[in-house]
Amino acid sequence: MPRTPLMAGNWKMNLNHVEAVGLVQKLAWTLEDKKYDPARCEVVVLPPFTDLRSVQTLIDGDRLKLVYGAQDVSANDAGQYTGEISAAMLAKLGCRYVTVGHSERRFYHHEDDALVNIKARKAIAAGIAPIICVGEGRDVRQSGDHVAYVEAQVHAALADITAEQAASVVIAYEPVWAIGTGEVASPENAQEVCSAVRGVVAELYSDAVADTVRVLYGGSVKADNVAATMAQPDVDGCLVGGSSLKVDEFSAIARFY
Ligand code: PEP
Repeated sequence: MPRTPLMAGNWKMNLNHVEAVGLVQKLAWTLEDKKYDPARCEVVVLPPFTDLRSVQTLIDGDRLKLVYGAQDVSANDAGQYTGEISAAMLAKLGCRYVTVGHSERRFYHHEDDALVNIKARKAIAAGIAPIICVGEGRDVRQSGDHVAYVEAQVHAALADITAEQAASVVIAYEPVWAIGTGEVASPENAQEVCSAVRGVVAELYSDAVADTVRVLYGGSVKADNVAATMAQPDVDGCLVGGSSLKVDEFSAIARFY
């Protein structure tokens, strides 16, 4: 079965809940105008935690053709973890996806591969598909070790995840040097690493699982560069930061198909 492309908008720490409702409403109208077909491309918004309830109410209440998720999840189930949000809480809110291991979490919050793996497993256990973010920094890219580096991240992130569970996982290759910099990876660079990511999944599980898992590219995706990236056989969608806050830009990216 062909993989349904997935375009996910990571809003990061932008937009309060009132602004979030405005953006989601406009995005839904714009996609509707353009005859968006969710069967051909899944469009996901990943707002801050404080926006999720409002976004849920709007999307579910108006039956908008959008999916929503969160940007992070706790590695713990419940209890004395001030400031954290559990996978069960996100599931109750109807989140279908959650990003784990975003490079900004790894950098600012020192999250390592082991923690990313626990978070991915918590999400899966709650019925939420983790979007596991991996990617090398500029120094690793310059050393030429980027493929091995990302492969090791994927190995670690998938530890103790069964083949059945792995089928729901999404892996986003986001070279850190391309995030928020305007410096997009070339389509060939994206393909090289996304193909290696799929190779790790095949090695750990099977070709069938590798054929099911969606591998995204992220890093300065825009309406004018998405087509070339999406033309690559192992790129199944994009994780979009800055451009996801602009309705015209994101809707142009999102209905690429
Ligand atoms: C991201 O935050 O995951 C991202 C890819 O950001 P940007 O599109 O702004 O580079």
